[in-house]
Amino acid sequence: MSETADVVIIGGGIVGSSVAWHLTEAGCRNVLVVERETQQGMGSTGKSMGGVRAQFATAVNIRMSLYSIPIFAAFQEITGHPSEYKSHGYLFVATTPAHLAYLRRNFELQTALGLKRVEMLSREEIVARVPQLRNEDILGGSFCATDGFVDPYSVMKGFMASAVERGVRLWRGMEVTGIDVDARGVAGVRTSRGNIAARNVVNAAGPWAAAVAHMAGAELPIVPLRRMLVPTEPFPGLPDRLPMVIDMSTGFHFRPEGLGLLMAWNDPDETPGFKTAFDPVFIEKILTHAVNRVPCFEDLQVNPHRAWAGLYAVSPDHHAIIGPAPVPGLFFANGFSGHGVMHSPATGRITADLILNGSTPLLDARDLNLERFAEGRTLEETAVL
Ligand SMILES: Cc1cc2nc3c(=O)[nH]c(=O)nc-3n(C[C@H](O)[C@H](O)[C@H](O)COP(=O)(O)OP(=O)(O)OC[C@H]3O[C@@H](n4cnc5c(N)ncnc54)[C@H](O)[C@@H]3O)c2cc1C
Repeated sequence: MSETADVVIIGGGIVGSSVAWHLTEAGCRNVLVVERETQQGMGSTGKSMGGVRAQFATAVNIRMSLYSIPIFAAFQEITGHPSEYKSHGYLFVATTPAHLAYLRRNFELQTALGLKRVEMLSREEIVARVPQLRNEDILGGSFCATDGFVDPYSVMKGFMASAVERGVRLWRGMEVTGIDVDARGVAGVRTSRGNIAARNVVNAAGPWAAAVAHMAGAELPIVPLRRMLVPTEPFPGLPDRLPMVIDMSTGFHFRPEGLGLLMAWNDPDETPGFKTAFDPVFIEKILTHAVNRVPCFEDLQVNPHRAWAGLYAVSPDHHAIIGPAPVPGLFFANGFSGHGVMHSPATGRITADLILNGSTPLLDARDLNLERFAEGRTLEETAVL
């Protein structure tokens, strides 16, 4: 087989799907998405917690959310497909003066950048929203009503279905095995089912992005890191519009999922690697933190067989790496460090802008480029969950 495309996208997860859709929005339709699995969503996207928030600590992440969240809210009108966006909010709960001061600094930056529905809350206001929290050590917190959750699978499928309706080709069950480079830059990709000639190639390979970059001789500092999620059986009695609640004292967080909850916690003992098996020991650890903050969670029922693990693609400064690679024609859309679902719309827009116009009005694209590491311009995001 020998094909040609204006743009080849490697990876059909939520990021590759958004890039494809945003290219069509800008009129570029000769786009081919190559996905090695026989169906979409087998990478990180299908494992995600689906949280979306604008409550970040850096301007670049806040700006990406300010573009992305309205897209989720209007997804049905924009793409003709549901995103299942639920604006229940994110509630950050602080128990130390340092955490409270940190939330206030973030709040000031967020409002200065135009985030409207974020507010600082007192302990009493937090208790009024979630009375089940153990609260004697709570000093206050922050809440943003436009934060919430989406169905990542649905967003991915929606972006891709709409892109395909506009002429994008999605080839599944086809692995990219090499990237051809000539004197001008990228010339195409080699796949398990033949070659594709293309002058623009997007690396949207999620946790496998470093290996894909390597195919073009580029080094991408991204490592896979396992994250585990624990759903619970139905648990009545919690507030109707329960937000994502983050206990900053431990990092334990939870949100409603069906009639039960979905619980997460960043295990500091986790080490990088392509580990995707769920470790049952994690249940004991997370329940300790859960019951510590929400005493009635002692009655939570958990079926270990329903828990799962997936991979974060972690960059050195916990910000995405988006933009041109050292090899002309190769573009990165990688390293989301746990924010790739919520930032998929902005990533699609920025990547399409950079491919087609060489610049984007959304933000200063230099903030996200690979060169920032060599040039010492890293942006540490501390609001990582
Ligand atoms: C447990 C967990 C919870 C999370 N919670 C959140 C959250 O609440 N909010 C949030 O925003 N983010 C969250 N994330 C992160 C989010 O899921 C990812 O950032 C996002 O899904 C990345 O999407 P992607 O398209 O880049 O990667 P993926 O979904 O991994 O897609 C990459 C695709 O590339 C394909 N591929 C790889 N190599 C090749 C190749 N050589 N040839 C062809 N195809 C290839 C893979 O098969 C895969 O389908 C979470 C992640 C995990 C694991």
